[in-house]
Amino acid sequence: MDRWKVLLSLRESALTEIEKARATGLVKAPREAKVNIRIKENDLQAFFKGYEKQLPIILGVSQTEIIQDSTVNSIRVEIQRASGIKCARCWIYKMDVGVDNRWPDVCRRCADALSNFQEGHGGTGSDIPGTPPLTPLGAPAMKQGE
Ligand SMILES: [Zn+2]
Repeated sequence: MDRWKVLLSLRESALTEIEKARATGLVKAPREAKVNIRIKENDLQAFFKGYEKQLPIILGVSQTEIIQDSTVNSIRVEIQRASGIKCARCWIYKMDVGVDNRWPDVCRRCADALSNFQEGHGGTGSDIPGTPPLTPLGAPAMKQGE
């Protein structure tokens, strides 16, 4: 099994579905999306489970979920709105936004980063560097029929 081909074809179907979801207004941006990946075969499911942490990054969305589903053909990709709240710093929808009450608008990971930044530099740290994340969706498309 060519791992990259499998991941790329998943990415392509996910991007197509995200575009459809944007057209219908379900999501305004990929970061607002959660991708449900319904998979029939156990070995394919195990393969994707191995990439569970990277999948949101690969697909450019906030969340992904791998679901066992014997009714699908092989793989089926579905889009829904991401759960949680959009973090003001990393723009990813997270369930843990606001857990650190010093930074009510950001997720725990960003709050930790801000906390380290503040301690490391001794600044007042009143403003949050709202650097937009790099979007993996900007990558050049694969050429067809090579
Ligand atoms: Zn964050």
